[in-house]
Amino acid sequence: MSDFHIQLEDGTGFTCGAHDTLTRAGLRAGLAMPYECNAGGCGTCRYELLSGDVEDRYPDAPALTERDRRKGRRLGCQSVPRSDLTVRLNVEASAAATPVPRRLHAMLTSTSDITHDIREFRFRLDEPVPFLPGQYALLEIPGMDRPRAYSMSNIADGGSEWHFQIRRVPQGRATTALFERAEPGMRLVIDGPYGNAFLREDVARDIVCVAGGSGLSPMLSIARGMAASGALAQRRLRFVMGGRTHADIGGEEQLRALAGFG
Ligand SMILES: Cc1cc2nc3c(=O)[nH]c(=O)nc-3n(C[C@H](O)[C@H](O)[C@H](O)COP(=O)(O)OP(=O)(O)OC[C@H]3O[C@@H](n4cnc5c(N)ncnc54)[C@H](O)[C@@H]3O)c2cc1C
Repeated sequence: MSDFHIQLEDGTGFTCGAHDTLTRAGLRAGLAMPYECNAGGCGTCRYELLSGDVEDRYPDAPALTERDRRKGRRLGCQSVPRSDLTVRLNVEASAAATPVPRRLHAMLTSTSDITHDIREFRFRLDEPVPFLPGQYALLEIPGMDRPRAYSMSNIADGGSEWHFQIRRVPQGRATTALFERAEPGMRLVIDGPYGNAFLREDVARDIVCVAGGSGLSPMLSIARGMAASGALAQRRLRFVMGGRTHADIGGEEQLRALAGFG
């Protein structure tokens, strides 16, 4: 199947591969597409289809209300074109400066347990690609209908290593596959980086990170980014971590290892 042309109302256009989504293809083309979760949960990427056909990868996505569906609104992160399209969506100006996301080939090199149900999975990319502290990627886990989003817990530092802290969700399809079958040497595609909740190095304010369970992963990346740039000496970083029991809280050891922790 060939690529399709996506035309926006303002005259801008971009090319979308036959297996790509509107949101990701627009970001790959360098447009500041509106989005946050990339997983059908937030609705930031809602748009109206004016002409053409799309396949909806997640028809029951929680982000779309009945009213949205009645009005023909769709999610860019779940829409795969089946023809050239004309769409109505607002391209924002603010999100443009982040690295352009790409589908990257990677190999799992090692894993280690952080808590009883959170494991760190460390991947090495075939080709180094940078990301910003706090960003996430979509892991294309073999056998899954849709990719799953996971935040990087390390900092790019060259970009070869991308580490993820993943919580095993009871009956979760992707996390069960990762915890039971992912062995060092396993290869998969990592699509990223994504996300606008990243460390702003040029802002001099203190930072408060609020995290629960595996939510620590992007916060750890932000703390590591601050430590690496020396910002921990000038800006205060506070962590508020939540869990159902003490055993659910991890990462303290990794935080204590940072220069400036106190
Ligand atoms: C931007 C973003 C970043 C994320 N970063 C991380 C991360 O760093 N680490 C991490 O572990 N997860 C993270 N997630 C969640 C992750 O993408 C998956 O949703 C989660 O791993 C469940 O996948 P699964 O296939 O195992 O479960 P599924 O088979 O998709 O779901 C099984 C059942 O569990 C429910 N469920 C799904 N996710 C959760 C959850 N998180 N807690 C409780 N119940 C759930 C579902 O509604 C469903 O009923 C992130 C999600 C987003 C959108």
